[in-house]
Amino acid sequence: MSALSSLHDADVLIVGGGGAGTSAALHLALRGTKVVLLERGQIGGQASGVNYGGVRQQGRHPAELPIARRSREIWGRLPELIGSDAEFENTGHLKLARNAEEEADLVAYLDVARDYGLPLHFMGNNEVHETYPFLGQAIVAGSFAPEDGVANPRLLAPGIAHAARAAGAIIREFMNVDRIQHDGAGFMAEAGGETFRAPVMINTAGFWGGAIAERFGEPVPVAPFNPNMMVSEPMPYFIVPNLGVVGGNVYLRQTRRGNIVFGGGYGISDPSVPWSRPLPEVSREIMGLAIQLVPALVSATVIRSWTGIDGEMPDHIPVIGPSRTIPNLFHAFGFSGHGFQLGPAIGSILAELVLDGQTEIPLEAFRIDRFADTAAAVQ
Ligand SMILES: Cc1cc2nc3c(=O)[nH]c(=O)nc-3n(C[C@H](O)[C@H](O)[C@H](O)COP(=O)(O)OP(=O)(O)OC[C@H]3O[C@@H](n4cnc5c(N)ncnc54)[C@H](O)[C@@H]3O)c2cc1C
Repeated sequence: MSALSSLHDADVLIVGGGGAGTSAALHLALRGTKVVLLERGQIGGQASGVNYGGVRQQGRHPAELPIARRSREIWGRLPELIGSDAEFENTGHLKLARNAEEEADLVAYLDVARDYGLPLHFMGNNEVHETYPFLGQAIVAGSFAPEDGVANPRLLAPGIAHAARAAGAIIREFMNVDRIQHDGAGFMAEAGGETFRAPVMINTAGFWGGAIAERFGEPVPVAPFNPNMMVSEPMPYFIVPNLGVVGGNVYLRQTRRGNIVFGGGYGISDPSVPWSRPLPEVSREIMGLAIQLVPALVSATVIRSWTGIDGEMPDHIPVIGPSRTIPNLFHAFGFSGHGFQLGPAIGSILAELVLDGQTEIPLEAFRIDRFADTAAAVQ
């Protein structure tokens, strides 16, 4: 193949095929844009495919709630949008308090949720134990989010990519973007010995989005984030809601098949490989905390543990929005351990930014230069 024949032009080039990137490809392709998405490995092969599967709005930073609300609406119509529900189930999310301080936290969040139209139902000690008799005595209160739920992370990004391809997007796997530049007119990226050009670029490269931003003069303090996960062999199905606690040191859900999926604490990783591992001592600690929540889990047998790599920002919310240094470059990365639920909306927001130059979703809190401002302020 000649050098010329491996040159590809597009309207928009997307780097990274997790939930955020595939969703951007879908929403842009649905509006007639010629999109090329380049993914280093397999679609959804990193954080988007190995996460806990929590589709949770409750407990989010207030700035994320408008995105989470839009995303929840999209989760509800995934079958029409992508032809699959990604096993999304509206189980509700029950956030539990184990002491008075945690209970006060649940109560305080009720006002936040009300401001953003997120329905929540607070339950005191008696009600929470009457409604969920499987809970342990350590629980003193709960807050139930009826619109939240769970889904299968293995299915979401591939499902969105499938629909994006059907809408005309070009999605290429095993294409590591190893060189990238802006020549004043547009972007030029090299991957797999091929060259891709476009006037607009979207950086949805997850943890690795930080390196791309840095390449364009916008360094951000993004760190690898590796939630420690486990799954048990199947038990009779008895836990319907997705369970969490104030502070988030343990969370668990049961699949319809009966397996319990547990999370809490952190593993380790080397994103340069990329490589990640859960830690046995952390897994043991999570089991102890999980048994406190649901004593019947004392008989659960763990069959597998794992982690993955997300990008964690110092203020625990992502970078979303236009570059401050390069025109027509847009970022959406660093979802800090909770971007699975947001993914479906992220693409719609990016498509609006690219095609309409604006979105009704407030993005000020997510601007990429917020850390530079902080650094300047403390000097
Ligand atoms: C173990 C774990 C549990 C979690 N649990 C939940 C949960 O329950 N609920 C929730 O809402 N969120 C959860 N999260 C967070 C959520 O999974 C992530 O925030 C979200 O999936 C991030 O999506 P993304 O598209 O930004 O990144 P990713 O899924 O990481 O996708 C980025 C992609 O970019 C590709 N890439 C990077 N560099 C390049 C390059 N140079 N060239 C080409 N491609 C490149 C990568 O290969 C990767 O596939 C969890 C995360 C982890 C790790």
